[in-house]
Amino acid sequence: MTSFIDTHCHLDKLDSTPEEAVNEAKDVGVQRMLTISVDEPSLDFVSNAVQQFPEVYGSVGFHPHDASAMSDSLENKIRQLAQEEEKLIAIGEIGLDYHYLYCPVEVQQRVFRQQLMLAEELNLPVVMHSREAEADTLKILKEIPVKSLGVAHSFTSSFEMARTLVEMGWYLGINGIVTFKNAEDLREVVRWLPLEKMLLETDSPFLTPVPFRGKPNKPAHIPVIANFIAELRDISLQELAEQTNENAQRLFKLPQES
Ligand SMILES: [Zn+2]
Ligand SMILES: [Zn+2]
Repeated sequence: MTSFIDTHCHLDKLDSTPEEAVNEAKDVGVQRMLTISVDEPSLDFVSNAVQQFPEVYGSVGFHPHDASAMSDSLENKIRQLAQEEEKLIAIGEIGLDYHYLYCPVEVQQRVFRQQLMLAEELNLPVVMHSREAEADTLKILKEIPVKSLGVAHSFTSSFEMARTLVEMGWYLGINGIVTFKNAEDLREVVRWLPLEKMLLETDSPFLTPVPFRGKPNKPAHIPVIANFIAELRDISLQELAEQTNENAQRLFKLPQES
C-alpha cells in the first residue's frame, strides 16, 4: 500500500478518539502523523500522545489566536518539553493571523518572534500559520531566519508569497483547500510548486476535502487530497507519496520508515 504522512492534524479536536483516528488512518496507508499544539492544554495532549502512539509525532507552540496567553513560564515549558521528548520535532503552530484578529497584531508579532527565536535556539523547524499577513510574515522571517526552516502550513497566500518562501527554502503544506471549487489560485501554486518543497496535511478536523464537505475532517483523508494533487500534477500517486514523505522526513528529521 502507498504510505503517507499527515504533517498537520489536531488529534485532540477530532470527532473520534485519537486511537480510532490513528487506526483508521493506518488502514488507508497514513502511517505517521504530526499532531500540532495551539495552546497550553494541547501542549499537554501532544506530549502525551507522542508517548502513547508510535505513529504520532508532535509540535509545541502557541497559535496566533492564543498568543495573548503566552508567557515566559510557558516559553520555558515549551523549551523543556522539546528538549526532553525527541518525538516533539517542531515549534508550532506559530505565526500571524490577521483574518480573525482574536489577538492584537502587536502581541501576535511579539509572540511569533519569541517562538522563532526559540526554534532557532533549539534547532527545530517551524510549523507556521500565516493568514492575511503576508508582508509582516516575510518581514519577521527575514529578521529571524530560522536555519532549520519550516513549513507554511495550510498555504493559501499569493503566488508571489509562495515563490518567496520557496526561494528562502521553506516548504508549503497543502491540504483539502486545494479541492475546493473556489481555490483556483491555490491550484495554480500547487501546479508550479517544486515537488521537493510540498508537504501533505489534513489540518483535521478542519478543511474537509471534496467530496466529504460537511463532515469533520480526519487524518484518514490524506489519500483523497493526495489523489487530487497527483491528478493536478499529472504524476502517479506513488511518486507524490514517496516525494512528500521524503520531504517530511528531511524537514522534521523523522526516522526512515521501518
Ligand atoms: Zn493553522
Ligand atoms: Zn492547525
